[in-house]
Amino acid sequence: MTDRYVVIGNPVAHSKSPLIHAAFATQTQQKIVYERLEAPIDGFIDSTAEFLAMGGSGCNVTVPFKEEAFRFANTLTERAELAGAVNTLWLDDEGVVGDNTDGAGLVRDLQRHIKLAGLRILLLGAGGAARGVLGPLLAEKPAQLVIANRSTDKAIALAKQFTKLGPVTGCGFAELPNQPFDLIINATSASLAGEALALPASIWQADGLAYDMMYSKAETPFLLQANAAGVRRRLDGLGMLVEQAAEAFFLWRGVRPETEAVLADLRTKL
Ligand code: NDP
Repeated sequence: MTDRYVVIGNPVAHSKSPLIHAAFATQTQQKIVYERLEAPIDGFIDSTAEFLAMGGSGCNVTVPFKEEAFRFANTLTERAELAGAVNTLWLDDEGVVGDNTDGAGLVRDLQRHIKLAGLRILLLGAGGAARGVLGPLLAEKPAQLVIANRSTDKAIALAKQFTKLGPVTGCGFAELPNQPFDLIINATSASLAGEALALPASIWQADGLAYDMMYSKAETPFLLQANAAGVRRRLDGLGMLVEQAAEAFFLWRGVRPETEAVLADLRTKL
């Protein structure tokens, strides 16, 4: 029987995951079916349990169910535990396993462009996406990682939870240190709302890298802001999306797909 996978979310019609996994399956000659599953807002657990009981092999989980998936899993990987959220589920002998591949996806995408060790990194935002990438970013041994968030208390609290893993501090946008950063990652959802962030001019440097986790056909408001500040290297989160999917595919199938061509093709379809 062909193994079946789904991406579960609400809404989920926009998800590019079926396209990405179909491309991985063709490339690696894996016989799988990968579809979208929209669960009712209050029905994540029922929908997921039913899919797995009917022979489903694994799921990706997207907005707004990543925290519920964390609670649903019987066992968690270390990085899922740290992230407090799960985006990849599958079954083993013990039951449902939950992992989080978002951070690994971001790091892999960044590593195509920059070496993270020794960098001064600014992470904007303190929501689920920021939390999910903190462990994998700190594992790359940056010189400094500052979390800045609109709600200052959330940035400080998040930094406190990760201090044992590396040199991380939290603050509000207005309290950002008067220094440039080598890498500035936008993990806020401000770009979704078309809004620019109230950031001091001192943080940008021309040969730094600006990275927006959000992706779109045109440059996002955050990347336009970086461009206006003179930052030459700017990337959106489409590469992160493809890399987190590749990591999930590897967990499920034991084969690591090539991502360059899949990313280039997806870019033309935005
Ligand atoms: P959350 O809702 O958990 O967090 C939202 C964050 O954005 C909070 O820190 C919030 O600040 C901040 N924020 C929202 N609006 C504004 C604003 N107008 N000005 C300043 N800060 C704002 O969202 P997620 O963490 O789940 O997602 C964040 C982004 O990451 C989204 O754009 C999402 O699409 C993207 N993402 C991309 C992925 C990829 O594979 N490319 C994977 C996962 C996420 P406050 O605490 O003050 O409310």
